[in-house]
Amino acid sequence: MSVTTPPPALRKPIDKDALRRKYAEERDKRLRPDGNNQYLRLQGQLSHYLDDPYTPRVERAPKTDHVTFAFIGGGFAGLVTGARLKEAGVDDVRIIEKGGDFGGTWYWNRYPGAQCDTAAFVYMPLLEETGHMPSEKYTHAPEILEHCQRIGKQYGLYDNALFHTEVKDLVWDDDQSYWIIRTNRGDEFTAQFVGMGTGPLHVPKLPGIPGLTSFRGHSFHTSRWDYDYTGGDPSGAPLDKLADKRVAIIGTGATAVQCVPHLARACKKLYVCQRTPSSVDVRDNRPTDPEWFKEIATPGWQQRWLENFTANQTGGMAEVDLVMDGWTDLSRRIQARIASLPAEERTPAKMWEAFEDADFEKMEEIRMRVEAIVEDPQTAEPLKAWYRQLCKRPCFHDEYLQAFNEPSTTLVDTNGLGVERITETAVVVAGQAYEVDCIIYASGFEVGTAYHERAGYDMVGRGGVKLSEYWADGMRTKHGTHVHGFPNAFIVQPTQGANLISNVPHNLTESGRTIAMIVKHALDHGHDEVEVSQQAEEEWIQLLLTGAGRMIGSQDCTPGYYNNEGQPTGPQARLFVGYPHGAMAFFKYLKEWRSNGSFEGLEFR
Ligand code: NDP
Repeated sequence: MSVTTPPPALRKPIDKDALRRKYAEERDKRLRPDGNNQYLRLQGQLSHYLDDPYTPRVERAPKTDHVTFAFIGGGFAGLVTGARLKEAGVDDVRIIEKGGDFGGTWYWNRYPGAQCDTAAFVYMPLLEETGHMPSEKYTHAPEILEHCQRIGKQYGLYDNALFHTEVKDLVWDDDQSYWIIRTNRGDEFTAQFVGMGTGPLHVPKLPGIPGLTSFRGHSFHTSRWDYDYTGGDPSGAPLDKLADKRVAIIGTGATAVQCVPHLARACKKLYVCQRTPSSVDVRDNRPTDPEWFKEIATPGWQQRWLENFTANQTGGMAEVDLVMDGWTDLSRRIQARIASLPAEERTPAKMWEAFEDADFEKMEEIRMRVEAIVEDPQTAEPLKAWYRQLCKRPCFHDEYLQAFNEPSTTLVDTNGLGVERITETAVVVAGQAYEVDCIIYASGFEVGTAYHERAGYDMVGRGGVKLSEYWADGMRTKHGTHVHGFPNAFIVQPTQGANLISNVPHNLTESGRTIAMIVKHALDHGHDEVEVSQQAEEEWIQLLLTGAGRMIGSQDCTPGYYNNEGQPTGPQARLFVGYPHGAMAFFKYLKEWRSNGSFEGLEFR
């Protein structure tokens, strides 16, 4: 594989104090007292923004049967857990999914240009098992969706799946030792075990801009892309129906970065409405060379790559970097700086300094990249991101900044304040109205809302206790998976486990493996129930609290969903952490924990 394109060389030494001041100034501009409450939930007259534009809903008879394992969510979490359960011989697995097919994020996000931001060789799950070779280093969304369908087919997960179905009630029956599941399709069935992989970013939200509902033109959220209106398709065919349209896109996060180049090529006029610029580093995508892939794809290859990526990404001092991407770049820089320190100077303070220095340097390069690419200096300046790289989701793209050189495209920078108003025909920024036919909301997904609000149901465990009540003072689990009082239930997500944000699927595949082994153990030994003991859960929480705390989303950062929009987070946030010894150590620990057969801390009955 070729080496990443070198970034522009730094011109002068970095004035760290000046940068710190600038970062603080830019953050302060954006802080607002309403924090997360500034966003609009898609309910009532906004609920049509949630309609599925991709698959017609098919009528079916309600289910009233019993399954061994029900999984809520048909994205990567459900697919990898379902696959491992099938491999373990658990045949009646039922996946319940609100979309019209498998895919989760990749079912909904079909906007033009959507692609994975972590190298596909580690991002796409079960590549070795399915024999699929990602066609590019960063594959595009249609291929990832197809891969989800491939997993579904290969493991027979379609047979029992319920699509366009949302769980409304999930209640433990203590007498029968099973879960009762009710859905919005009239289903009422039971399951001995349940898994939940509802994902962190699946409920779209709209910006709370005054006048939003008064707009008379067309509008949609990026996760429900309206190809009937724009023309084109998710594979990148030109959006030919926009040739005579004036379009505003609101938001400049990871989604907008990927779809703006397509809009810029297609629209008569495109206004990109920006509150905070993303940091946009080099993408350097390329097709996969099948000969090269044949060489690397020896037995166990994907696990090796996963472990290598995670080791590089989380400071594991791996000797090589197989993946070589933007995520590992910052880690490599930090490691190089730490390695250059004499042993006696490797104190926490010096290590923090090394991290900060590497970050300043990286962000200077990213800002210089803006200048090098964007021709108009007045457009380039506001596209520069003034915060540490991990304050917001880092982005990688080789066409986004270039889009601002298109005559059709105008950056409407809001100086950190957001769009002022929407009228019947226009978006208004700093008093100026930009008349448009269509508004595309690239405004992201609910994050700070309660787990049960996003999931759409509140799990009721032993003794009628709701999960929201049990977690009133913060999330409590062992491994992020098991909750005391909620037997035979498994949550599949990263927090309180590896917490590896740069490659979420790695967390999920390890969880899937673990759950399948626990369920098989229970079934093989005729146990009706498995539950984490209160003591084991408490010990895990105490262990988590010995860590350094949250790695991303510090309160010094510019507001965003990583730091609760810059608002104080309350005591619960101290539990939104991972294993204190890091992701690599967690995966190693988890493998040993599940393999020695004792499943320490779980009680089988
Ligand atoms: P984000 O939440 O990252 O972005 C929302 C955008 O809307 C921000 O730029 C925000 O500005 C802006 N915004 C909000 N309110 C206003 C307002 N009133 N006026 C103007 N702008 C406003 O959503 P995305 O959909 O871009 O991304 C969400 C997440 O999804 C990503 O962080 C990433 O984790 C994931 N993702 C992953 C991809 C991948 O792996 N390939 C691709 C795309 C997304 P501000 O920053 O100031 O709040």
